[in-house]
This record gives sequence, structure tokens and C-alpha cells, in this order.
Amino acid sequence: MNEKGSNHQLLKQNNHNLIKKHIYRNSPISRVEIAQQLGLTTATITGMVNPMINSGLLRETVAPTDEAKGAGRPRMMLEFVPEAYYVCGVDVGVYNTNYILTDIRGNVIAVRHTDQPLGDYRVTLEWLAQQIPAFLEEAAIPKEKVLGVGICLPGMIDGSADIIYDIFYEGWTEHNLCAELGQRLGLNVEVENNVRARAISAELFDRMVKSEPFAYFFVSFGVACQMIIDGKVLYGQSAAAGEIGHTVVQRNGPVCPTCGNRGCLEALTGERAILQQCRDIMAAETPTILRDLCPDPQCLTMDQVLLAQEMGDKAVSSVIEDAIEYLGIALANTINLISPRAVVLEGRILSVPKNQARMLRTVEQYMFHIHSGMIDFAFLPYDSDRGARAAAAVVVKEFLSRSL
Ligand SMILES: [Zn+2]
Repeated sequence: MNEKGSNHQLLKQNNHNLIKKHIYRNSPISRVEIAQQLGLTTATITGMVNPMINSGLLRETVAPTDEAKGAGRPRMMLEFVPEAYYVCGVDVGVYNTNYILTDIRGNVIAVRHTDQPLGDYRVTLEWLAQQIPAFLEEAAIPKEKVLGVGICLPGMIDGSADIIYDIFYEGWTEHNLCAELGQRLGLNVEVENNVRARAISAELFDRMVKSEPFAYFFVSFGVACQMIIDGKVLYGQSAAAGEIGHTVVQRNGPVCPTCGNRGCLEALTGERAILQQCRDIMAAETPTILRDLCPDPQCLTMDQVLLAQEMGDKAVSSVIEDAIEYLGIALANTINLISPRAVVLEGRILSVPKNQARMLRTVEQYMFHIHSGMIDFAFLPYDSDRGARAAAAVVVKEFLSRSL
């Protein structure tokens, strides 16, 4: 192809992706609106859209009546056909692995929970290569309708380049999960950091990213805050952006088994740290509500810890309140750094209303030149399937950028 031809092809490709993404994010939307908003001609839009309608990816709907009122001919709107494709999402976590099947719009079709935790590469690869086909077979979705498999994991992962830099278990950096698992499954496989995937899902599936900078603050085993700035998910060097859990907030604090430093946020506020602090309380042998709820400290769960807090266990409440204060300081520091317009917060510890209130009070106290009324804060309820659904969103993101 000559230079002019290849330029034309490139332009066509760019327009195709631009239109596809715009419809996904703004549907239902009319051809005229797309043309106006993207600065393209309606002829270009029609030329791109018609093949997508013919292939079953898009469909036309009639605009809601109040909009079309008095306009003569009803306005035809475009939207994705949810059942055009399905996506499998897998959340491989330190506690367990959850599977989900969604349609292309993120509507949940099927879920499967397993208690297999993240482990060394070989073990996890074998497990995934067995479980994913079994899950898809049970859901009875033909393979050609499956757009791909998204895997989300904790760690330094650049999903845009399919590179795993580090996830703290053996073998992961020497192998290419997307290529090896993809070959075993005969499906496209995408990988992403579990919190970055949540930010992508908030944007694509849930349309929660209405203003930017956008921050997704997540507390679980560890702590992370992923960001969308100027329409882009932030990766940074070695995909280490957003790892706020390993910022030091207490000099000479407890050692973090993940980063090795003392007094990082994860070592003080991650669920592993909170459970350990509660076990220490139980070991002190003074009678506590927590001990009544869970006689064996080794079997202690976050749900029991939060129940003990709810029931008025003073020692447990003090552990939680300290953790929330540190989390609030860390979020205020992030806000001072990137000045976000919207912040989403997710975590079991943050699902309790009084913890939410304490978190917001602390954030307000430490923010500089910004007050909480300037930021749209949203606490998400705890949902064990959120990670797997977010992994599915990563596949949709890749699909929207895929070549013609
Ligand atoms: Zn750390």
C-alpha cells in the first residue's frame, strides 16, 4: 500500500474506534449527535455504523417519547446490542477466585465462586485453564460469542501492554499469562491490576466517571488508589502508579510483608494488618466481644471484626478507628496531589456508615485548599463479584480499541 493509502486506512481505523467508543459511552445516541460531538460528517458516521448494525453489534432504537415530542419523525438512536458478545471475568485474589460472565454491557449472566487463592504461576495457570472452560460450558454460551477472558490480580500489571511486572508470587514475571492461557483456551485473554480494572469498570460499565481527575480508592488485603486523568487510566513506570498502600505514614511502624518497609499504609490499615491487630487483642486474654464471636483467632474474618465493632467492642473499635484515620490521611494526601473531582471508595471496612463518616471527616481535616463539597464522593457497597465484573470490563476496553 502506498503512503496515501495507508494514511487513509489509519484515518478510517481511528474514526472507527472513535465512533465505537463514543456510542458505547454515550448510548443511546443519534447519528447527528455523534457527528456534532466528534466533528465528523454524518456520511462518515453512517458509513462506519451500518456495518456494525449489519453484524449485530449495534441496533437502532426510537428516542424516548418526551424527546421526540412534536419533532415529526421519531429520532433513531444507536446503542450496543448487549447480547452481541459475552465476556468472562476472573478475579484472582489473595483470599479466593471468582468467575463471572457478563454481556458486553456488563450485565451479569452467571457467577462462580471458588476458594482457590492466588498462588505461583504454574498452579494458577493450570487452575484457570481447567475452571474457565468448565464455567463457560455451564453457562452454555458458544465460544464464538465470547469476546475474551479478563483476569484481574493484585500487583504491578500493565494491562494495556499485557505485562506483569510483579505480583509477589513465583513464576509470574517469567511467563506471559495472556499468551499462554489464551492458547490453552483458544480465546483472547487480557490481564489487569485488580483496582485499575475497577476504575475501568466504573467508567465503561457503570458510567461513574462523569468528571476528572477520577480516583478509585480501594481497601482490601492491601490498599490502592487508581486514577483516570484526561481520559487515560494512569499506569506510570512499571505500572506502579496508584500503589498508595506502600506509602509510609508511620515511621518505625510495623513491618509490611509486601514491601518490607515499616509503617506503610498496608501495614497499618490493610485487612491482613487489622486481622493481626485483632488477634493480638484476643491473645491478651481479656474478655472481648470478638472472642465470643470467634473462639479460634486463626479463623478470624473481617466480617466478625466489623460485627464486633458494631456490637460495641471497644478494643476492636479502636483498631478500626485508627485504621480509618490513616486511610483518611492517605486519601487527603492523594487529593492534595491530584485534586480529583470524583472519588469512589470501596472496601469492607468502608461499608459501615460510621466508618464512612469518620473517613470523610478525616479527609476534610487534612485536605488543603479543597473542601469536600468540591468533590463527588461515592462509597460502593461491598460486593464479592465486583472484581470479576471489573476484569470483564478490561476485555470490553480492549475490544473498543480493537482494529477493524
Ligand atoms: Zn508496604
